[in-house]
Amino acid sequence: MIDLDLTEEQALLEQSVREWGAREVAPRIRELDREHRFDPKILPQMADMGLLGCSVPTEYGGAGMDYISLGIVSEELEYVDTSLRVIISVHAGLNCLTLLSWGTEDQKQRYLVPQAQGQKISTYGLTEPDAGSDVRGIQTVAVKRGDRYSITGEKMWISLADVADNFLVFGWTDLEKKKQRDPSGISAFIVERGFKGFSSSTLKEKWGILAGNTGSFKMEDVEVPEENLVGRPGEGFKIAMFALDQGRYTVAAGATGLIRASRDASIRYAKERKTFGVPISDHQLVKEMLAQMESDYQASRLLWLRAGFLKNAGRRNTRETGLAKWFSTVASERAASDAVQIHGANGYSDEYPVGRFYRNCKGAVIYEGTREIHKLMQADYALGARQDRPTRCELPPIK
Ligand SMILES: Cc1cc2nc3c(=O)[nH]c(=O)nc-3n(C[C@H](O)[C@H](O)[C@H](O)COP(=O)(O)OP(=O)(O)OC[C@H]3O[C@@H](n4cnc5c(N)ncnc54)[C@H](O)[C@@H]3O)c2cc1C
Repeated sequence: MIDLDLTEEQALLEQSVREWGAREVAPRIRELDREHRFDPKILPQMADMGLLGCSVPTEYGGAGMDYISLGIVSEELEYVDTSLRVIISVHAGLNCLTLLSWGTEDQKQRYLVPQAQGQKISTYGLTEPDAGSDVRGIQTVAVKRGDRYSITGEKMWISLADVADNFLVFGWTDLEKKKQRDPSGISAFIVERGFKGFSSSTLKEKWGILAGNTGSFKMEDVEVPEENLVGRPGEGFKIAMFALDQGRYTVAAGATGLIRASRDASIRYAKERKTFGVPISDHQLVKEMLAQMESDYQASRLLWLRAGFLKNAGRRNTRETGLAKWFSTVASERAASDAVQIHGANGYSDEYPVGRFYRNCKGAVIYEGTREIHKLMQADYALGARQDRPTRCELPPIK
């Protein structure tokens, strides 16, 4: 049975992340955002609170929290700024939980443990200049030479590209299957920044999540030991999709935080701002926007909680996680847009945070499955044309 009450530990976590965000980040976020500056000093603080290895078991250096706690962390971080939640999505969600589920014991010891402890930062590299939604269109290739793979390719739009130490990378190991666009020819690898032939850069033209780092990286004949192959050869596509189940979950919970932030800022402003002799919160059309934010917040929270519950129970959740991600990101765009509207012209200036929410929310309607891709998936589930099947490796349930 789903219990909607947070446990004492979860409630304490929620409170401590909320207080940390309000104290350490909120006072500086406008400046960081204005200066397009990622502040690396935030990472050790997040590590100290156990957030970087949030749902990784303690035996692998993590904080040993359950998956609902990961959702709580994501919601609270995005309440302050999307850039913080993105760190959790790529590092803790897409990368660490994938290594936990698919990695060998050796990979867990060499990569997962330092990542969960926050000594190393990790991310996920699937997207390329010519392939996003269409994963089979990636051009990265990994050619086996003896006991090593030589990887060549370029990944673009990668969160923390210029910050991360370790990269979960996807490329074709079967070139015949590449020609046929058969995804069972794709494999997954761990690539270290320090490997020869690796280079990265930051994308300067981005207009949202400005306090976050996004960029690209190139691999030119990067030699990767075969011990860094994640899963079996040809399992890369499945691993990429598995990782998205974890990343999308954090995006869903994060978008829920952005809706709440939009709602709270709007309520504050609507009670203060007067027109026609009354606070604008007295106008029914303003109330309508607030009511929509409230219902979107509550519905989004229930959806990610359900996905978190399924993860804790060790049950398949691709469908539920995808629905949570789709619904809450679209709702966050509506909430942020209405928050700007409620602020009138003031919402159009960065003196108020709602303009930042509006710029930040859009990314999540694009990454980790665009709105359209999620719509198609949910339609196919409803039509019975798509079903979730067990994968060879699953997220360990919470006992
Ligand atoms: C801020 C940010 C951070 C990101 N971080 C990462 C990261 O860390 N790692 C990573 O690998 N990637 C990352 N991405 C990339 C992201 O995952 C891709 O942008 C996303 O998958 C969409 O791919 P695309 O941009 O190539 O769009 P396209 O796939 O080219 O799509 C363009 C448009 O066409 C629509 N479309 C495409 N196919 C269909 C279809 N079959 N039916 C209907 N409509 C369709 C899409 O919905 C979209 O509206 C990030 C992106 C952003 C913006």
